[in-house]
Parts: sequence; C-alpha cells; structure tokens
Amino acid sequence: MSETIYDVIIIGGGPAGHSAALYASRAKMKTIILDKSKTAGALAYASLIENYPGLEKPLTGKELLEVMHKQALSFGAEYKEDVQVIGAFLGEAIKQVFTMDATYQGKTVIIATGSMGRKASIKGEEAFLGRGVSYCAICDAAFFKGKAVCVLGNSEEAVKEAGVLARFAETVYLISPTPKLKVEDDYPALAIPNIKVLLGKTVSEIVGSEAVEKILMKGADGESELALDGVFVYLSGSKPIVDFLQGAVELSEEGCIITNAAMETNVPGVLAAGDVVCTEARQVIVAAAQGALAALAAEKHIFGRKKAKVDWHG
Ligand SMILES: Cc1cc2nc3c(=O)[nH]c(=O)nc-3n(C[C@H](O)[C@H](O)[C@H](O)COP(=O)(O)OP(=O)(O)OC[C@H]3O[C@@H](n4cnc5c(N)ncnc54)[C@H](O)[C@@H]3O)c2cc1C
Repeated sequence: MSETIYDVIIIGGGPAGHSAALYASRAKMKTIILDKSKTAGALAYASLIENYPGLEKPLTGKELLEVMHKQALSFGAEYKEDVQVIGAFLGEAIKQVFTMDATYQGKTVIIATGSMGRKASIKGEEAFLGRGVSYCAICDAAFFKGKAVCVLGNSEEAVKEAGVLARFAETVYLISPTPKLKVEDDYPALAIPNIKVLLGKTVSEIVGSEAVEKILMKGADGESELALDGVFVYLSGSKPIVDFLQGAVELSEEGCIITNAAMETNVPGVLAAGDVVCTEARQVIVAAAQGALAALAAEKHIFGRKKAKVDWHG
C-alpha cells in the first residue's frame, strides 16, 4: 500500500470525474482520478455533443473528454488509466480504494463511475459468474493461461481487453453482436494472431457443469457453439456501476446512489456525481455540475467548513 494519502480520490474519468478533479486540484487538494478506460464511459460513446456550453463547434464525446482531461491535469490532478476499482473501505476517516495491484488512501472519495453497467442477461451468465464468466480481464486473465476464452462486445474497451487476454489465453474469440467493431480495422490488438474476431453473433447461452464449457451463438448463418473456458462480458448497458461498492453506500431500489443536493452520500466524506447518482437528466452538463459540487463538498469535509467555499476571481 502506498504511503500517499490523497485529499480526493475520484473513481471514474468521465465528465463528472474530470470536473470534480478540476475543482479539487484547483483548490490545491491532492487529487487522483482512477479510471477504468477513457473509452468505456457514456461520453466516449457519444458521436457528437452540441449541447454543452462553450463549444464553438460540435465535438465528438472523445474530443470533449480530452479537453476536460487536459484542463483538469493542468491544475495538478493525477490520472491513472486502465485501473478498474474493484473494492473500497469507506467507513473510516482515511478511506481505502482497491484496484487489482494497488490500494489508494484518501480523506474523501468521489464516485463517478457512470451508468454503462448492465444486468446479467445472457442465460448462464449469472450462474457462472466467478466460474468462467468475468467482467474484468485485467483481474482474471491469469486464470486462463493456455485456455480458450471469448470477449463479448464491439467497443474499443472490448478490443483492448481482448488484447490483455491474448497475453495469457491460447485463443481469444472476440464476438461482436454487430457486423462491424467500433474501432478502425488497423487497431493494434486486432493484429494479434491468437485473437479471432467473430462478427454479427449473439451469445444466447453459456453452458457448463462446474465451470464454463461452451457458449451457444446465433448469427445470420444460424446457430452454432464454441467450446471454451472463459467468457469476458464487455457489452454495455444502462445500469449505474456500483458493484465494487458492495453495499458501502446507500442505493435506491433502482440501484443508483442516493445523494443530497451537495452530492453527499450517507457516508461522511464519500460523494457521488454524474450518471451513477439518482438523477433526472443524464447529460454531460449535469454530470459536470455535480462533479464540481462533489469537489466543493469534499473540501468542506476536509477543512471542516460549515458551507462549501466557492473559488472565483473578483
Ligand atoms: C450514445 C450516447 C450519446 C449521448 N449524447 C449526449 C449528448 O449529446 N449530450 C449530453 O449532454 N449527454 C449525452 N449523453 C449522456 C452523457 O454522455 C452522460 O450523461 C455523461 O457522460 C455522464 O458522465 P459520467 O462522468 O457520470 O459518466 P461516464 O461518462 O459514463 O464516465 C464514467 C467513467 O467511469 C469509469 N469507470 C466505470 N467503472 C469504473 C471502475 N470500476 N473503476 C474505475 N473507473 C470506472 C469509465 O471508464 C468512465 O471513464 C450521451 C450518452 C450516450 C451513451
């Protein structure tokens, strides 16, 4: 575990996380963003953003995210990509946030993981979770050394994760529900010889006894099956991403994080912002505004202020 104690640990690098990082680092708080992937959040999926103020011309979601990223980092925020948070202890004054290979300590935590999660919806997916089904290649790839696995999805994140798995597994089937992947044909991972791409196929069932043994698929050419040991699901959905919290903060019945108007959760020093919270409008401007409020609440928590201190030039 690192000795560093951050003032603010931000989980998630979308507009909510970056706006929180901008406010927190500009207020001279030691701030880090832990981000699973720059391409996995909702904003990265948006092909064109026209309704975020200040844009001279429409930008793709990725372009807008890059602007936010540079701005936040220019005030000193640290950023770590390819780090999926898998657990957290939030109840003490110094909170701990866990990734596969590190533990981060912070006085406050801002949860900004968005709502691109999905319910287990493939037959067998839930039953074989932890017995061949996984949502984290970096966490579980080593268990599949020399074996055959598949990655389900068509996003850049799915392709990237197939690349991680290809270092361990003998064969990685990248199975896309669409006839085309959402990356260029010359994307580096696609040239890895043990990655085999299957396009336009939907997995209808994951089958096995003690562990995963095969999958059943449907495509334009009818039904087929594939023997393999692991299924890594990277299909996106619209469920708030809160699994790593394991009940540590209060959620609504719909599974979103409940906050007050200052973006405080029920746990002191734990804030949440963006699509992961219970919100009427899932929009970039809302996520960014909530990120700013969360950072102000973090500062209030650390410095024991009665009210959030707004920082502006006169
Ligand atoms: C196709 C599409 C089009 C859209 N168009 C518009 C539009 O035109 N205008 C508009 O205002 N809004 C639009 N939206 C909505 C907008 O993109 C979202 O409201 C906004 O991105 C939410 O921001 P966020 O920071 O809460 O979450 P996200 O943008 O989803 O970012 C979440 C971040 O958290 C990271 N993360 C997730 N889990 C973990 C974990 N366990 N550990 C570490 N990091 C993690 C992800 O990698 C990601 O970087 C669109 C959304 C989609 C999907």
